[in-house]
Amino acid sequence: MEPISPKSSCKKRSRNKEELEAKLSSLGKCVIDLRMNDNRSTFLSILEKKGKKFRLSLHKMFLHASDNVLEAVIRFCVDQDKSSLRLIKAYAEKEYSDGRYHRPVALSSCIHQGKTYNLKEIFEEVCIQYFQKILPIHITYFRRPLYKKISGVTFGTFDYSRNLIRINALLDDPFYPRYFVAFVIYHEILHYIYPVQQKSQKRIVHGKPFREMEKKFVDFVGAKQFEKKLLTQMISRIKYVRT
Ligand SMILES: [Zn+2]
Repeated sequence: MEPISPKSSCKKRSRNKEELEAKLSSLGKCVIDLRMNDNRSTFLSILEKKGKKFRLSLHKMFLHASDNVLEAVIRFCVDQDKSSLRLIKAYAEKEYSDGRYHRPVALSSCIHQGKTYNLKEIFEEVCIQYFQKILPIHITYFRRPLYKKISGVTFGTFDYSRNLIRINALLDDPFYPRYFVAFVIYHEILHYIYPVQQKSQKRIVHGKPFREMEKKFVDFVGAKQFEKKLLTQMISRIKYVRT
């Protein structure tokens, strides 16, 4: 498929679920069966794909998404097009940033203690060492791969709408050195310090100040080497993504 055209309609309109299903089906020339959700971490997931039939779970924010966002949803589902995912994520972040879908984090739902690492402990150490205070961020393990089947492994994510760092429970293993887990947490904290910037058509996630600050991590070189080694091991099997 062609890349998303900037000339596509950006006009927003509100639809109900059936109208959205019909719109997506017509855009993709396929059959879309929708489940609407209000789950931040899985705002888009492909539940089932059979030929030209897709069963999708979409966040309710897509009920009023513009046509070009919906085109991106279709391109992502049909072609697994990465640039479409970027556009979809930018849309979701923007929707969340206005607080409309803000849901407070239930502390009881945060899992800190793993078999190998206590995330809160490492998070607080990193905060004190680099920021001289405990930052108002929550942290938890997650056990499901985000964007499964598409992006492979995600070690950590930062949820702007909740100030929540999610760390893949895969890292709760002595195979992953403690300094590496600390580095992933540090990286996610930097997303809190340096929020995503939108400059005209460009979305800057890891800007220059972010990258400079990232290098101040005491084990930066070692962490990057470990990451590179992992990448080499994993690349033949799955794609590797860390946000
Ligand atoms: Zn990142």
